[in-house]
Amino acid sequence: MSQHTDTTYKPTSPNSKLDFASVWEYAPAPESASHAEIKEKYDLFIGGKFVKPAEGNYFKSMNPATGETITEFAEASKSDVNKAVKAARKAFEGEWSSISAKERGKYLYRIARMIQERAREFSVLESMDGGKPIRESRDVDVPLVAAHFFYYAGWADKLEYAFPGKKPKPLGVCGQIIPWNFPLLMLAWKIAPALACGNTVVLKPAETTSLTALKFAELVKDAGLPDGVVNIVTGAGETGAEIVNHKDIDKIAFTGSTGVGKLIQRSLAGTDKKFTLELGGKGAMIVFEDAPIDQAVEGIINAIFFNQGHVCCAGSRLLVQEGVAEKVIQKLKDRMESLIVGDPLDKNTDVGAINSQAQFETINKYLEIGLNEGADVYQSSCSIPDNGYFVRPTLLMNVSQSNRVVQEEIFGPVLTIQTFRTADEAIQKANNTPYGLAGGVWTDKGSKIFKVGSGLRSGVVWANTYNKFDPTSPFGGYKESGVGREGGMHGLGAYLKF
Ligand code: NAP
Ligand code: MG
Repeated sequence: MSQHTDTTYKPTSPNSKLDFASVWEYAPAPESASHAEIKEKYDLFIGGKFVKPAEGNYFKSMNPATGETITEFAEASKSDVNKAVKAARKAFEGEWSSISAKERGKYLYRIARMIQERAREFSVLESMDGGKPIRESRDVDVPLVAAHFFYYAGWADKLEYAFPGKKPKPLGVCGQIIPWNFPLLMLAWKIAPALACGNTVVLKPAETTSLTALKFAELVKDAGLPDGVVNIVTGAGETGAEIVNHKDIDKIAFTGSTGVGKLIQRSLAGTDKKFTLELGGKGAMIVFEDAPIDQAVEGIINAIFFNQGHVCCAGSRLLVQEGVAEKVIQKLKDRMESLIVGDPLDKNTDVGAINSQAQFETINKYLEIGLNEGADVYQSSCSIPDNGYFVRPTLLMNVSQSNRVVQEEIFGPVLTIQTFRTADEAIQKANNTPYGLAGGVWTDKGSKIFKVGSGLRSGVVWANTYNKFDPTSPFGGYKESGVGREGGMHGLGAYLKF
């Protein structure tokens, strides 16, 4: 594979007033991968068994930090998807609906506990297949996965209390399609509520990050879940489209890009399938002059640079009040210098590998666009590995509202910075994109939090923090960021009919 260092932008001026290089010298602390078993090839998981794809095709999955192929996944064709839907239908009409809600809950509790037991293996595999730092997969993704299964396990036999006076019933077979940025967590967001409500599922993970979904299939087998309740079909976009267009599916739950979400919505028009769409975002973080500045800077670093900015609700735009702009930007630059970019399996790593070559190219294309639009590009001066796909934490300053880098989702460690004078101006700028997934506000005043919180057209608004998740809290977007909510009780309603 070619080296990428030449295509990323290097800072032209001294980066920081502080010499972090001498302060932050960490010895490598790689997480051991010896306990993580990766097969040479993974088949499809249909009807409780691993089965070969009908057309016999497999595709490679690489570790984006090294460029090496780590395994191969089966490519599910139309007939494989059909087989998976039949298995899910059989389970829905058979064994799964004949067991009590309490027993259903027990299966989910068992899955949650088994995820905790295998947490280290799941974390290592997630980082190897997707490129995210082990600290993220170990401390954020996998614990949240278990938390989702625990949370929805508790609801399984209490659905009538969640919806008093109604008789909730499962929808049937659910087709679920997920992206590559939180592979196992997005699986949990989809599978846990669906099963708690008594549905069965056919899930397609993203092409570049299917490994933990297939490990999850092994876990489902070990948990003794009745055959066909969970089916995992790997493949590319075409496999996803086969699920969307299958006639015997009752609901589509999709998380991914707005472009594909629009295609799916078009295909579903005129059918009686239910659907939820969780799509892209361009989150704004609004920092007022009275904000606790150090806390805000730490929140911003977390919101955009950790997990390489591969977060749908990432805070990818900073709106900072004029009086503190210079101070905030300098502190951001100083903190950026201390970020370690590199081996996702190293416990010291803050920013891991970009998930794929395609995404790496997309991010660099946007940096080019930013330069052409007149942005001042600033990058931390850290070293990055020669192989694999890495992008230095980047600021795009001197941008305006109509710039593409301000309007479009970049999905990388790139933060645009604009200033504002009044709360109304901040709200107006924050709302002025096609998206409305998440936003944040930093201020000392509760009144400003309420004003901004009610002014933002955004599914989530965090105050004096960012990217905090909890299974009890609903999540979803306004405008082109999606339709419907996942998480919490809202997430249950999306898998029930009344
Ligand atoms: P994507 O390209 O839309 O892909 C998402 C999933 O859909 C993948 O499994 C993909 O398969 C599949 N797919 C592609 N084309 C399809 C089609 N025509 N019909 C059915 N399925 C199809 O998105 P991505 O690049 O993987 O993920 C990044 C996007 O997800 C970002 O926009 C991000 O904001 C969004 N996201 C949103 C949320 C949220 O909760 N709102 C959460 C996470 C991510 P392949 O992998 O084979 O292409
Ligand atoms: Mg991969």
